[in-house]
Amino acid sequence: MDFCLSPKHAARQNEFREFADREIQPAGHTFPRENLRKMAGRGYMGLPIPREWGGQGEDFLTYILLIEEISRVCASTGVILAVHTSVGTFPLLYYGSREQKERYLAGLARGELLGAFALSEAGAGSDAAALRTSARRVEEGYRLNGAKVFITSGSEADLYTVFATLDQSLGSRGICAFLVEKDTPGLTIAPPEKKMGLHGSATTELQFADLIVGPDRLLGEEGKGFAIAMSLLDGGRIGIAAQALGLARASLEATTAHLNSRLAQGDQVSQWGRFTLADLHTRLEAARLLTYRAALLKEKGQPCSREAAMAKCFAADLAVEAATRCIDLWRPEEYAGEHPLYRYFCDAKVTQIYEGTNQIQRLVISRAILKTFHK
Ligand SMILES: Cc1cc2nc3c(=O)[nH]c(=O)nc-3n(C[C@H](O)[C@H](O)[C@H](O)COP(=O)(O)OP(=O)(O)OC[C@H]3O[C@@H](n4cnc5c(N)ncnc54)[C@H](O)[C@@H]3O)c2cc1C
Repeated sequence: MDFCLSPKHAARQNEFREFADREIQPAGHTFPRENLRKMAGRGYMGLPIPREWGGQGEDFLTYILLIEEISRVCASTGVILAVHTSVGTFPLLYYGSREQKERYLAGLARGELLGAFALSEAGAGSDAAALRTSARRVEEGYRLNGAKVFITSGSEADLYTVFATLDQSLGSRGICAFLVEKDTPGLTIAPPEKKMGLHGSATTELQFADLIVGPDRLLGEEGKGFAIAMSLLDGGRIGIAAQALGLARASLEATTAHLNSRLAQGDQVSQWGRFTLADLHTRLEAARLLTYRAALLKEKGQPCSREAAMAKCFAADLAVEAATRCIDLWRPEEYAGEHPLYRYFCDAKVTQIYEGTNQIQRLVISRAILKTFHK
């Protein structure tokens, strides 16, 4: 049993950390095109995609290390990368026909195209099988009508994986996945939502009004869309766990450096402050182990839904807790101006919500535990 990163993983982690520190800028309220361009230049937009399809052929853990390091500097860039890869590119790799892969996959892997994932609707978030966006068979292929909400990179992506139902009465078995290009007539993109955090990530509603896609844009088979969406969630959740890890580290590193500089000036840190830091650093190591282990299981093709849910839930809660508890370790007068922890807190909150809320993760975990006990 080895709980350390291999020399190869450790070297890549260092590379990503140096790159993020040197090249990545916190996005502010602007979509971070320049960060994405720099990542594409390094092959980071398709890190875990096979080389034959334009990627770097790296394993899933290497990709997770990348998301953690990028998110530590800019969580908006982190989520854009995570969505683009985990749920924007993997669906094509796993389920695309040869023709679909040839058309889109290398462009996505090289970062020439940006991918997005459109599942959630106003009445179908946690209960995604209740989605109402409809797909009707027509002579030219399928006609889509409906709307998707809170779509990451909605206004910036080039290609969307869109989930729609052929027949709502069939429940999850009626759902299909479609590849929809940005400029398709019938697609309207609403202005980005105003959010509490992740301001650089454009989150938008997509509306479909008699949008026609050819039969060659059906991803996988008819009626398999829900299974496709669910199969992507484990990887997506491990990606969000890594984003949360990066944010927790950002809060802790800023606060630790601040306290060390106070100590260097002969100042004191209370025992309560020291214990708070000790607790948070310990939980950070635990979150890391959960996240990296889930990534290793996924890479091996082993079941990892429970582990992915544990990692996402634990790391997201920690990211919020680290930001809030660390703030208490700064002096009252240091609250003036834009405090560094303010952004980390506002960015961290959403990691408890997307890719399944943390309540949904707890449902996944408890179901797995109870099933095990009943065996
Ligand atoms: C910034 C941002 C980016 C996003 N990006 C994307 C994207 O790219 N693509 C996409 O498809 N979606 C995206 N989403 C949507 C996100 O996945 C959903 O918001 C999330 O799944 C929750 O769904 P909901 O908002 O409809 O909440 P609801 O499902 O209505 O839940 C409301 C509350 O009820 C709780 N709840 C619901 N069901 C249960 C239950 N069975 N047991 C216990 N508690 C329950 C939830 O935990 C939550 O607290 C994004 C959301 C945000 C905020």
